[in-house]
Amino acid sequence: MREHPDPLFRKLPQVGELLQRPELLILQETYSRALVADHLRIALEELRVQVKHGRHSESSLEAEVRNLGTAVERRVQQTLRPSLRPVINATGVILQTNLGRAPLSETAITQIAEVARGYCNLEMDLDTGERSYRDIHVEQLILDVLGSHSNLGPSGFRDKAAAVVNNCAAACFLALNSLAEGGEVIVSRGELVEIGGGFRVPDILRKSGAILREVGTTNRTRISDYEAAITTNTRLILRVHRSNFRIEGFTERPSLQELRDLGERTSIPVFEDQGTGCIVDLSGVEITGESSWVQTVASGVSLVACSGDKLLGGPQCGILVGSPSLIQRIRSNPLFRAMRVDKLAYAALQATMLAYLTQTEDTLPAIAMMRTSPEEIRQRCIAMARSLSSFDVTAEVIETRSIAGGGTTPGASLPSFGLALRHAVVSDAVLAARLRSLDPPVVARSHQARILLDLRTVPPEQDPTLTRLLQQAITSVGRSSELQEQS
Ligand SMILES: *Cc1c(COP(=O)(O)O)cnc(C)c1O
Repeated sequence: MREHPDPLFRKLPQVGELLQRPELLILQETYSRALVADHLRIALEELRVQVKHGRHSESSLEAEVRNLGTAVERRVQQTLRPSLRPVINATGVILQTNLGRAPLSETAITQIAEVARGYCNLEMDLDTGERSYRDIHVEQLILDVLGSHSNLGPSGFRDKAAAVVNNCAAACFLALNSLAEGGEVIVSRGELVEIGGGFRVPDILRKSGAILREVGTTNRTRISDYEAAITTNTRLILRVHRSNFRIEGFTERPSLQELRDLGERTSIPVFEDQGTGCIVDLSGVEITGESSWVQTVASGVSLVACSGDKLLGGPQCGILVGSPSLIQRIRSNPLFRAMRVDKLAYAALQATMLAYLTQTEDTLPAIAMMRTSPEEIRQRCIAMARSLSSFDVTAEVIETRSIAGGGTTPGASLPSFGLALRHAVVSDAVLAARLRSLDPPVVARSHQARILLDLRTVPPEQDPTLTRLLQQAITSVGRSSELQEQS
């Protein structure tokens, strides 16, 4: 304990005294008195610590005290700024979970706003005034979209049913719990995978109360392996889409049709966790070998689960499509209530499905991004590179590949172009950090000690904003670089 505190401490005014200063009075009027006083206290405490560590001379401390009004305002503004903010995704990963997956269509956004503003007929039949169920707003629509994208035509899947829950993970859990609790679920050893974000098939299965019955090997599983594993205790055959990984070489697994036939012969439902919800044919944009949601449903398996915010390009949700009796068992599970989605998700999902039904799916940003030609992206990169030419940076337009992401096969990438930036002074890591600190933040990729901006995931109308932000980052990074490199 020090007997004689630093005399500089006496230069620090009291909170009450500071709050009477004109600039702080204005702040209290603009924001709340409590908020301003709180941040003032924190700022003063920081100054006290700095004095204690001998970081201040009399004049430097006086300057800090004079500036307290500005400092407090900055702190208050930072506190009040929403933590969840829009960013510019220049990574070229179209469905990036960390960046919120699929951007929504303008129609979906309008529908969300309409429904959010007031009341809606979420669970009311407006013809009868009776209670209805929320899936009614999308159920037929989902089936009609799937039908109209299959060989069967719009009415092709009207003998099925559909239900919506929070996400695909919830859909899988609910399906397993509703249909197989206490019984066995047959899964190939090649599909006991982790899909990402802690979603591990064996764990979900165990938590659902079902017993895992592994068959086959990591690389090869035959239909006879499934057949041999069936007992009186078998409740479900589970097939999992191979998201995030690929098994190549000496491999084998039965087709969905073979599994369906086995299921029909033995009266055991076959459930595929399809994942992506892909409806449109992506082979035209070089995404091949991707089994679509439509194909999976058309294969005739009993139940299919997918995400709403992956290749479907809609809001976060999980969609189950299957035989009405299975969907009914799932709906009557008390946990269904715990995993239901809100009116906003239905508003967005309905708008998204309508885009497919009217063949205007190019209004869905994720689909539009996938269909943008590399040449168009190259031209935009060239224009952007030009507008950076007088700055402290080398900007080169290079070939790259965009990634579909969101659980599409790992090889799912599209030819694209990117703007590769190298700053004259600072490292790519410092430049990347600086890009993330902009408003809006810009998220880019690191590529061979350069910053790579793939414009496929940047809406073209944001090009002028992005250009201005890059100019700003490049200029200010030069100034602040020495400080940042030191720390
Ligand atoms: C992405 C994915 C999931 C998880 O979907 P969420 O909607 O994120 O819960 C489950 N299964 C497969 C096959 C997936 O690709």
